[in-house]
Amino acid sequence: MSATMPRTESVFEEFSDAKRKIQEVFEQIKEQIEAVQTFIEHVVTIDTDHVLSSDTIGDLNELVVKVTGVHEILSRDQMKVAFFGRTSNGKSTCINAMLWDKVLPSGIGHTTSCFLAVEGSGKPNPYIITEDGEEQAVEKVQKLAHALSGAAEKLTEDSLIKICWPKNKCRILNAEVCIVDSPGVDVTPDLDLWIDKHCLDADVFILVANAESTMMQAEKNFFHKVSECFSKPNIFILHNRWDASAQEPDMMDEVRAQHMERAEAFLTDELKIYNSAEAQNRVFFISAREMLNTRIARTKGIPENPNNFPDGFKSRQLEFEEFEKKFEECITRSAIATKFSQHVSGGESTVKHLSKMLANLNTSALVVRNIANDEADTQKMRKNFNKEQMEKVTKKVHEQISTITDNVSNQVAAALDI
Ligand code: GDP
Repeated sequence: MSATMPRTESVFEEFSDAKRKIQEVFEQIKEQIEAVQTFIEHVVTIDTDHVLSSDTIGDLNELVVKVTGVHEILSRDQMKVAFFGRTSNGKSTCINAMLWDKVLPSGIGHTTSCFLAVEGSGKPNPYIITEDGEEQAVEKVQKLAHALSGAAEKLTEDSLIKICWPKNKCRILNAEVCIVDSPGVDVTPDLDLWIDKHCLDADVFILVANAESTMMQAEKNFFHKVSECFSKPNIFILHNRWDASAQEPDMMDEVRAQHMERAEAFLTDELKIYNSAEAQNRVFFISAREMLNTRIARTKGIPENPNNFPDGFKSRQLEFEEFEKKFEECITRSAIATKFSQHVSGGESTVKHLSKMLANLNTSALVVRNIANDEADTQKMRKNFNKEQMEKVTKKVHEQISTITDNVSNQVAAALDI
């Protein structure tokens, strides 16, 4: 896989493309196993001396179950980004800005008291799914996820509500990205539990910090835990509320340099996950609220008036878009490498196993055939499955398997070569 992704408009699509190609490979593998199964069923009918090992049938069934399982996991695989930070730093607003809509509840006084995952849905209207699998109206999320709501269904901080949003309304959801919002890291979290329950399959972590204050130890602690669980986690740091800096233009450069220095030191010296240049590419200064308002207005077709833009608006907008571009490249590359590589090696070993099994089977089939030739009622057996038929099936299946064995690495490598 190339070290850098091409920065195209549709970089997200590479995940869906790779997923589709790998799914096709697994479908082919499944077809071949089923062909072998059919063949074995024929052989068993004439194998009266039980020359065939009884393990063969069991092994084949196991392979089918395994391949079907991988295929199912593949169909559910998606890219995942998790947002963390202190309460009211603007996590929900930032997610909404990326979704171009007010999908998550946010605002002063609204404190998200549990995890919220936003996923694309094929249905025309949004809805939510609670942890017990119950589907409810999307409006209920306000009540359920609000720390102060006093809702009858009291949720713990580590509970998860899934918000299923029509994917045709958001490009990012359509691209199979799942976005997770978390309760503030200042609410005495059980970090291990949070990570175990919601983060182990995350491709990217985003810390939404408040540009008006310094990064807190509570925020740092969470990312220390994350870097204990991942060898090299993908982390972005967003200094949000950067619009407030426009109020103090004299201090702006100084404040930015100080935030950058601290964030860089955190990613390099403390977490030891990036070098200095890499770290600088992971830190952004944004205004989620401005971005969300601008995008909602644009969606509604309200014309923009540059005369009304607050000071520094354009550069904050460009920086937000630059963050999104880097984020897309990063999550796509990471998800393809981590989510699919394990399936790829699983697929390869399945095909090799099958190929070996067939080689053994060839030998067994020869023995079975010889026995059949010696038997008095050969005529009857040949009627069911004669020598030519057996040779034909053996040859065909073996050829197909060999082709798949040869192709699987190439196909998968091609799928991953982005
Ligand atoms: P969360 O608790 O981290 O999810 O924070 P919210 O997204 O709910 O935001 C808390 C409050 O901060 C809301 O009133 C937002 O409108 C406000 N807010 C969010 N982002 C910005 C920003 O970039 N600039 C300013 N000035 N306010 C913001």
